[in-house]
Amino acid sequence: MNIYAGYIRVSTDDQTEYSPDSQMKLLREQAKKDGGMIPEEYMFSDPGISGKDAAHRPEFNRMISLAKQKNPPFNRIYVWKFSRFARNQEESIVFKNMLRKNGVEVISISEPLVEGAFGSLIERIIEWQDEYYLINLSGEVKRGMMEKASRGEAMCRVFGLDIQENAYVKNADNVHVVDIFESYDRGESFRSIARRLNDAGVRTPRGNALDNRFVEYVLRNPIYIGKLRWSTEGNPCSKRKYDDPNIRFFDAKAPRTVSEELFTRVQEKIDKQKALYTKTDRPNTGRPWLLKGIAKCDCGGAMVYASAKEPSAQCNNYNHMRGCTVSHHISQEKLKNSFILGLRNCCAMDNYESDPLAPIVPKTTGATPDYEKLIAAEQRKLKRCADAFQAGIDTIEEYASNKKEINERIRSIQDELAKQSSDLSPEERKAATIKDYRERTMALIHTLEDDQVSVESKNQAIKLLISRVVFHKPDNSLIIYFK
Ligand SMILES: [Zn+2]
Repeated sequence: MNIYAGYIRVSTDDQTEYSPDSQMKLLREQAKKDGGMIPEEYMFSDPGISGKDAAHRPEFNRMISLAKQKNPPFNRIYVWKFSRFARNQEESIVFKNMLRKNGVEVISISEPLVEGAFGSLIERIIEWQDEYYLINLSGEVKRGMMEKASRGEAMCRVFGLDIQENAYVKNADNVHVVDIFESYDRGESFRSIARRLNDAGVRTPRGNALDNRFVEYVLRNPIYIGKLRWSTEGNPCSKRKYDDPNIRFFDAKAPRTVSEELFTRVQEKIDKQKALYTKTDRPNTGRPWLLKGIAKCDCGGAMVYASAKEPSAQCNNYNHMRGCTVSHHISQEKLKNSFILGLRNCCAMDNYESDPLAPIVPKTTGATPDYEKLIAAEQRKLKRCADAFQAGIDTIEEYASNKKEINERIRSIQDELAKQSSDLSPEERKAATIKDYRERTMALIHTLEDDQVSVESKNQAIKLLISRVVFHKPDNSLIIYFK
């Protein structure tokens, strides 16, 4: 027998409503008709609450926490009306989606869904509306949060500070914030700071290990000099766009962690460092050529456009005297011809193994990824997003967009998994893979030899199949790595 739950909430505004006892009776009857029962312990009921004054719902919260467990004790929640299930439509949508992911349905007995194909269409429209509602809602949320920001109230969880009654107060990690600012000011790098604090057991507010991006995020956050950063676009502090023109600053209800002088000095240092970094490391700008972003020197550096008598390529590390001491100069024409020859060689062979002049190493060998594990990891992320939303860290807008992104990833992993688990033996699968590679390689050669195709399009086409082409100067060979 299926075990279900029931939730009762009586509106005191509505005099025509059924009494709690009659609602309970109706829910139990419907559960029985559906082949299950609602035991006493899973009949949840919050007393008559009117309209918006509904913040306190202990039984509702207890029910949700049971339904969110790994193996929920019931797989259905019966309610009289959806509007009784949550305080408002947006909350109802969020909870329903969250529970559905955990295998728990919410069923309204006075608003039954239509059966059959038409019913499933309606369900889909409702789901679509749910998503639309979540997105649309963000306007309201934005306004509300902007108002909160302008009052300097604490909204986002921040490293080294806790939130108490809408204000920030220092916590135990605050000393690490001071350390981060002072160490960076003394010349230590983001990465080194992150590594050192990680080794000391320091974690982000979400319990993750620190990385260099997190260190930068801390250094960029004006909350440590008592200012709240807020974008008029409604982006909360977690967005890492430091030069967003829509950003406004407000005096925050927060103590100062570092001095304004130190903060300003650190900002200037970061800007300077960034400018340096972007000047020398731009593999994807400049003149287009066939193997741009694909050809590498055997030292690991990128082969970049070199102007000589004829269009050529040269190792970027050699150009900048960064550890590559042998000139890897080669004409683009020669590089292109060897590349196409290499592709032809691998089409001619049964397996994509080597040819002495142009060894071809496909990346198709090796273990297939553990798809179940990948999916489980995505699902954990989804749960963290839901938790972050519930805890008020993420806005509904952020939650909706994260959820959409993660679900898309899960679907593509599932597609991949379905492809892998079709009933092929390892040999057959290998043969199918090689056949697939050969067909794609031939199509690529065709594209490369087509004079009507622009060099940018050819470059794009190569990137779909080839991850990199390594130029080995000593024996003048190319190694082609397939994706
Ligand atoms: Zn090199």
